[in-house]
Amino acid sequence: MKIALVTLGCKLNYAETSTYERGFIAAGLEPVGWRDGADAFLVNTCTVTETANRKCRSEIRKLHRLNPSAPIFVTGCYAELRSEEVAAIEGVARVFRASEKAVVVPETLEFLRVKPDAATSPAFSPDFVGDPTSKQGVTDVLGGFRRRASNDIFGAYSSGERTRSFLKVQDGCDNFCRYCTVPYARGRSRNIPICEAVRMAREIAAAGIREIVLTGVNTGDFGRNTGESFLDLLKALNEVEGIDRYRISSIEPNLLTEEIVDWIASGTKFQPHFHIPLQVGCDELLASMGRKYTTADFAAKIAYVRSSMETPSGAPLTGGERLPVFFGIDVMVGLPGETPELFERTYRFLEELRPAFIHVFPYSKRPGTPAAVMPGQVPPEVKAERVARLEELCARLHSEFETRCKGMRATVLWESREKDGTMGGYTDNYIRITRPYDPDRVNTLEKVII
Ligand code: SF4
Repeated sequence: MKIALVTLGCKLNYAETSTYERGFIAAGLEPVGWRDGADAFLVNTCTVTETANRKCRSEIRKLHRLNPSAPIFVTGCYAELRSEEVAAIEGVARVFRASEKAVVVPETLEFLRVKPDAATSPAFSPDFVGDPTSKQGVTDVLGGFRRRASNDIFGAYSSGERTRSFLKVQDGCDNFCRYCTVPYARGRSRNIPICEAVRMAREIAAAGIREIVLTGVNTGDFGRNTGESFLDLLKALNEVEGIDRYRISSIEPNLLTEEIVDWIASGTKFQPHFHIPLQVGCDELLASMGRKYTTADFAAKIAYVRSSMETPSGAPLTGGERLPVFFGIDVMVGLPGETPELFERTYRFLEELRPAFIHVFPYSKRPGTPAAVMPGQVPPEVKAERVARLEELCARLHSEFETRCKGMRATVLWESREKDGTMGGYTDNYIRITRPYDPDRVNTLEKVII
């Protein structure tokens, strides 16, 4: 039986879909592309904007038109927040809520009348020894599908790429920023225990993957339900053999503590690359949106990371210099109350901060959030102008960042994809490097001069 898995949304969704896929493969199903004659479909949805909701609906309708007899199983954030709406779309056989991720595979198999053969799929044998009594109720990647848990976390990692894997270590969020639906869609902040993260990192290493990107909704909030700390997690993962590099996919500025920075700066596998949400660069809107820091706090944190991890700019290149840190900053434009003056303040704040990249998002009104009913809503055409200005600024800052790194030594992890006779990879500080394709270099680390 063929099944096609479709993912919309973030790295977390990719890690989860990839984990479902391994479960279906273990049960004897064949994953295929959505155009390749699938007998069933699984769609992992996103609800970060109204556009995302629309995309999910049209994706489901497209698949139903493609094969009206194929049942469609739907999970993810849109399915969580609008389950009845999704269930009403023609072709949808089952909607899985956020707390049901652990049963997506076994219940889909049941619906498809697929009985995994215990002989060939030990993970499905009744006596598979996971730790059913585990307080954290962690769902084992393959074995624990049968364990249902309400507020538990579904451990997951992606295995589609040869060089890099997204490892989900945390889910949910307790912050309830006033524009955000994620806490409603993904529940309260919780995490897998460190031992489970280490077990999955070893599995990833055993598959020959050399780089792990730690993902979560509020990754730095790791430890909320296990009493462990994010720093302890990093230290434990740093010891896993076979993994050469780690990146932290996104971390709130107030959770990137000086202790964590000092440890990373002391020489570890964690790369000089941080993705940090700012959202807006003026204190009035940070406060009105319920963000937990000021622009001064944010600037001080970036300055601290730079002073701890970089060789001061202008110092002579001796070959031992430390690379400039790559900061990718999330910014949302057009939040309610964002006057032209306040937008200019965000613009100037980013110019002074000089991140390597700005991820620009136009604010999207989310029903049920306080911001959706706030005064001072910004017209779409004004939002579009501001997005364009920040994207222009991003291009300038990114090119300045690359210029600052010119002539410096770095290490690249070469990826497997060949494009027009070339191959590519990222340096420690996330600069993209390409070279003529050489199959022997795939998934190898190489020292280069940027
Ligand atoms: S911290 Fe992030 S995920 Fe949590 S509520 Fe705020 S914006 Fe949403």
